[in-house]
Amino acid sequence: RARQAGRGTARFFSPQMEAEAKRQAALESGLRTAIARNELSVAYQPQVSLDSGNLLGMEALLRWHSPEFGEVAPAEFIPVAEEAGLIAAIGEWVLRTACSQTRRWLDLGQTALRVSVNLSPRQFHHADLVALVRQALADSGLPPAALELEITEGAVIDDIDNAVAVCRALKELGIKLSLDDFGTGYSSLSYISRFPFDKLKIDQSFIRDIVENPVNAAIATAAIVMARSLNLTVIAEGVETEAQARFLRARHCDAMQGYLYSRPLDADRFGRLLAGDRRLALAADEEAMPTLLL
Ligand code: C2E
Ligand code: MG
Ligand code: MG
Ligand code: MG
Repeated sequence: RARQAGRGTARFFSPQMEAEAKRQAALESGLRTAIARNELSVAYQPQVSLDSGNLLGMEALLRWHSPEFGEVAPAEFIPVAEEAGLIAAIGEWVLRTACSQTRRWLDLGQTALRVSVNLSPRQFHHADLVALVRQALADSGLPPAALELEITEGAVIDDIDNAVAVCRALKELGIKLSLDDFGTGYSSLSYISRFPFDKLKIDQSFIRDIVENPVNAAIATAAIVMARSLNLTVIAEGVETEAQARFLRARHCDAMQGYLYSRPLDADRFGRLLAGDRRLALAADEEAMPTLLL
């Protein structure tokens, strides 16, 4: 088709586009065997109370170490997995891994820990989602209240009635629901109030320059006020500086997640963090080095 369209669209065949298409195809074939070959892992990023500094839980973040491509970012491979019809299997693997790992940490005495797992739009619309979550809870023995699912607006905006029904069914399992990347989409009060969300996550794009940019400061402040008025807890993602944390604390944001406290950690490191050895957990890894040691 591109060829028929003539010279104007020749960029379809530019070397760069071709390289990109090749990479996508190679990523796709790599992803097909990634689970079986043990190339996937889950990293855990702490979520902490802005008031007390207490650890509230962690977000499970998928990692892929490909022998061919090295570390591939989820922002690149999750869309490939969605396109290739691989997201159901990969998503189930993440959910089960995060549930069993969290169960083991609970068994070590971490009674107040909650793990949140991301759902891509296609996973959210999968007919078996509720049964899958129920099964993952049953098989792992994780109490439902210790699981939270993160959903983006993109997953719910197209068919709100159906999305509300799915969310209600998920909530009936006893789990928590959060709205991820808040502020990047439609973000209307009237539709959000229809959903049984427990938590709002303010997108990191607003947090990044919250101290210098009055527009983003206003958006973040409005999001906090809105969340409170809807009785939702509110967490800021991508908090990297003490100044950002102070700003959020002053506006009664509940919690934060970001490099200021910790980067996402592999399960071993996260376990060490839980065991109370924050320095050991974080300092062994340059990458994981926080800006501040609390
Ligand atoms: P997200 O759910 O919004 O996750 C937060 C992202 O922000 C993570 O990127 C995390 O590493 C990054 N982050 C956290 N704190 C900071 C900070 O202080 N500064 C900066 N610059 N970044 C920070 P990551 O792990 O690369 O994941 C990117 C996205 O990929 C996630 O965004 C989520 O949409 C998706 N994703 C990750 N794991 C999964 C998964 O298991 N399933 C699905 N469906 N999507 C996933
Ligand atoms: Mg998320
Ligand atoms: Mg997010
Ligand atoms: Mg995001």
